[in-house]
Amino acid sequence: MLPRVSDMPAPARLHAELLAELRLRAFEGDLTPAYADRIVSATDNSIYQLLPQLIAFPRSIDDLVRLARVTAEERFKDIVFAPRGGGTGTNGQSLTEGLVVDVSRHMNRILEINPEQRWVRVQAGVVKDQLNAALAEHGLFFPPELSTSNRATIGGMISTDASGQGSCLYGKTRDHVLELTTVLLDGTVWTSRPIEDEELQHIKQRSDRVGAVHRLVDAIQHGQADLIAAHFPKLNRCMTGYDLAHIRDERGRFNLNSILCGSEGTLVLIAEAKLNVVPIPKHSALVNVRYGSFDAALRDAQELIRFGAASIETVDSRVLGLAQDDVIWESVRQYFPEDDGQRATGVNLVEFVGNVETDVEISVRNVTDALTCGGPSRGRLGFTVARGEADVGAIWDMRKKSVGLLGNMQGDKRPIPFVEDTAVPPEHLADYIAEFRAALDARNLTYGMFGHVDAGVLHVRPAIDMKDPAQEVLIREITEAVVQITKKYGGLLWGEHGKGVRSEFSPRFFGPLYPTLQSIKAAFDPRNQLNPGKIAAPEDGKLLAIDGLTTRGRRDRTIPRSVRTAYDEALHCNGNGACFTWDTDEAMCPSYKATRDRRHSPKGRATLVREWLRQLATRGIDPVAETAALRSAGPWRNFPARLRNTWSRMPDFSHAVMDAMDGCLACKSCSGQCPIKVDVPTFRAKFLELYYGRYLRPVRHHMVASLEAMLPALGKVGWLHNLLLDTPAGRAATRAIGLVHTPKFSAISMRQELATRGIAMATSEALAALPAGERARSVVLVQDAFTSWYETHVVLAVLDLIQAMGFKPFVAPFLPNGKPLHVHGFLGAFDRTASRNATMLRELAATGVELVGIDASMTLTYRSDYNMLSEANRPPPVLLLQEWLVRHRDAIARTPGADEEYLLLPHCSERSLAVSSLKDWQAVFAAAGGTLRVLPSGCCGMAGTYGHEAEHRATSEQIYAMGWSKQVARWARSGRLLATGYSCRSQVKIVDGRALPHPAQALLACLRGG
Ligand SMILES: Cc1cc2nc3c(=O)[nH]c(=O)nc-3n(C[C@H](O)[C@H](O)[C@H](O)COP(=O)(O)OP(=O)(O)OC[C@H]3O[C@@H](n4cnc5c(N)ncnc54)[C@H](O)[C@@H]3O)c2cc1C
Ligand code: SF4
Ligand code: SF4
Repeated sequence: MLPRVSDMPAPARLHAELLAELRLRAFEGDLTPAYADRIVSATDNSIYQLLPQLIAFPRSIDDLVRLARVTAEERFKDIVFAPRGGGTGTNGQSLTEGLVVDVSRHMNRILEINPEQRWVRVQAGVVKDQLNAALAEHGLFFPPELSTSNRATIGGMISTDASGQGSCLYGKTRDHVLELTTVLLDGTVWTSRPIEDEELQHIKQRSDRVGAVHRLVDAIQHGQADLIAAHFPKLNRCMTGYDLAHIRDERGRFNLNSILCGSEGTLVLIAEAKLNVVPIPKHSALVNVRYGSFDAALRDAQELIRFGAASIETVDSRVLGLAQDDVIWESVRQYFPEDDGQRATGVNLVEFVGNVETDVEISVRNVTDALTCGGPSRGRLGFTVARGEADVGAIWDMRKKSVGLLGNMQGDKRPIPFVEDTAVPPEHLADYIAEFRAALDARNLTYGMFGHVDAGVLHVRPAIDMKDPAQEVLIREITEAVVQITKKYGGLLWGEHGKGVRSEFSPRFFGPLYPTLQSIKAAFDPRNQLNPGKIAAPEDGKLLAIDGLTTRGRRDRTIPRSVRTAYDEALHCNGNGACFTWDTDEAMCPSYKATRDRRHSPKGRATLVREWLRQLATRGIDPVAETAALRSAGPWRNFPARLRNTWSRMPDFSHAVMDAMDGCLACKSCSGQCPIKVDVPTFRAKFLELYYGRYLRPVRHHMVASLEAMLPALGKVGWLHNLLLDTPAGRAATRAIGLVHTPKFSAISMRQELATRGIAMATSEALAALPAGERARSVVLVQDAFTSWYETHVVLAVLDLIQAMGFKPFVAPFLPNGKPLHVHGFLGAFDRTASRNATMLRELAATGVELVGIDASMTLTYRSDYNMLSEANRPPPVLLLQEWLVRHRDAIARTPGADEEYLLLPHCSERSLAVSSLKDWQAVFAAAGGTLRVLPSGCCGMAGTYGHEAEHRATSEQIYAMGWSKQVARWARSGRLLATGYSCRSQVKIVDGRALPHPAQALLACLRGG
């Protein structure tokens, strides 16, 4: 039995006092010293891990003032803190061992949109895509682009002066900041914007910190203009971090915001921003040019620049390869065909935008004519052109995801950021990259590359195993080499992502201006409390060094290798934060979106499990051996001890991990959509198995887990079950075990209906005995418990459809699939159940007849959770219904009544694990003469049993309300809104009282003439 994981490090005394003081001062937001919250905030996307003492989630600007005032007091002078937004920094920008001030949870409102004057006012925690979604209805957008746009906050973007694709046309974040409302460390709230000299003189008279700061910055601008001009490179990606080169704007106005933009949370707390926004270009086109080498792509990009594109991006073969293995590829594959069976090894993406279609088309024509004439002479292989928002957007989404995908490689060596965003003058990029590559190749490192070639920025993440001390030293070695090469070409180490821990190189890049930065830091933050060690340290302070902090690798290496391998699905989370996506139409991650609590995200859960494994390792506990021991013992073993443990309620870090796991819907979206394929349901099941080896399970778990096995017997008296459920006693009983909205058995007798249709049960003998021709026109329907017993009419519709297509259906004898066992962590029982089922399926498949399942989630279990079985024991392919239908679409008759548009809300596991199968549904409807539109949607909130569990019901409905409810409200009345998931259909029925058909029912109705 696992021991209690207790005595987790409590926050330091001073932080406990700070917490108490903030509560006394009526801090309105959340304050948490809980170890689980702290460990989840201990990482960003960098290689570092710093455990904060306390996390504050302010609710308002007043909270920020309270924080500043309290920490300004003498007794709290040793408190250091870091502001935090999306936490997507690649260099530890938001990490601290002190207090984290996370504005993303509550300060995320869009305050005002002024479409006429084209500006917007937002709180600092607003996510960039959230803002653009709100602006879209006004035909406007906030243009600075970054790959993390679905989770990075405006506060974070301003603080890193973020930019990305399109920066040559639209500039960087600072170019769009009109006003900043900030809290200075003495508690002053100050709104800074470009000001005329008269106002500046007035402000300089002030005796407070605002006056001091203005006097200093103005003196720097006047006194050091020549030095500044000499040392700030004239690059599109100008030197961020106290941007001395732009203290005066193009109209000569004094602008304190040039110092604040890019200051990485070292000077002020940003509360609100007024931002410039611009019209969305009406037309866009993307020319996708393929090359035989990355170098050819880079060199040709310089040629392509002269065509005046809005942006040019280069991607190498490794990145393309990673994208091809991801769900995202499906949406872009048509634009990257192979050339003579060869995949391109470099690609340039050349974008043109404009408000007049012919202007865009002329630009495209100019480039494509040149490409056609220039031909392969420059290593070009061919090109495609994408037009319109959807297609161009899909390719940019693929490019955006590439940075995350760069982190996804198999094995212990993983691509990591530390020299990932250098910038050089674009004309030197190809030569620079050749030297950069030589430095990496000399060390036998694997890496993928892509870049904003128009801005001279290169993204690269060499693969290094940070758990290996011998490899860890490469961080310094390579960084030093890259600093040298970058300086040689007149470039910067930080072209895009900010400095963070790399601040030790500030003096080298800022040269004689570094003391000036020190003076600015000292004026804003005389006690060096705000994100100390980053960008500039006051005179006696120290800058952070790239090898001076605890790394994640160092922490992880204390977990034995065998355990790391067993929990592989959790170990490789690199904190890129894709699972924090704001977009409610993305499947990942419903529990995070509903709670806004980072513990309830894939990253949160992976982090907690990693820490739990580390804690077990420090106590000499091997969870793999524990699991084996648990499985060999009977279910009653240790019952008294488990009872005692459950009742005693002693503190245990495992409870905190359990709390995070309990909120997971096991929807599997993370396992498909996380760029690193962090698979929460898999490691969650392993954790639950061990956790419930020490504590008692709720009775409900046993009921749900045995449900599949009990259904055949229960179904025989389904009418009685249904009757009892409706009685007060029945309702009280289900409530007592924590279940709500328990489904009822279908009134249809499957046995009778099959007999009426002459459909036989499938046995390998019966299938083998079929004549070859008939066998080829046969198919076996693999039953799932829920459709068969609760929605028998859907099963019959599928069988009728199969018959209407001229095929002979058989029905596989029902055997539990085991998914509920897996979800609840009964892994021993799952293994046995899955093995039995897989054996039957293998025998049936051996006859050569195809197997097909109806419910997407249950069918996809054969491809995901069944991978836990040894290779020899795995099931044969079981097709999703649409995969089978599309193979045989020639057998679908075109019917005149089918020419309507149908709308599909797919199950989120289809979106994540079998995204191409959504196109199959469309092809199938097209074969019948109709059209099918796949609606944007996330999770419906039901996810098997989750939405039936009393304690999760409210969250389940909240998730439904985030996306599904509006689609149902809009389309359900048409009768053409379809849903593939049994869970989803149940949820719609419970919440909106509507019965959505399965697509098979709609198709059948079409084939039968409406
Ligand atoms: C996969 C990946 C791709 C990326 N691609 C790009 C890219 O294309 N372009 C780009 O520019 N960056 C990119 N980044 C880096 C990162 O996303 C950006 O720096 C982003 O702007 C950080 O925003 P955030 O909200 O996550 O901020 P955080 O990481 O939380 O914080 C960043 C910095 O801002 C400070 N900060 C945050 N909020 C406040 C506030 N309210 N007041 C004061 N200081 C604050 C923090 O202290 C910290 O120093 C990428 C990162 C990843 C992981
Ligand atoms: S779980 Fe995946 S998406 Fe989320 S932070 Fe970790 S690696 Fe990124
Ligand atoms: S399975 Fe679903 S709910 Fe659970 S962590 Fe993954 S995305 Fe979130």
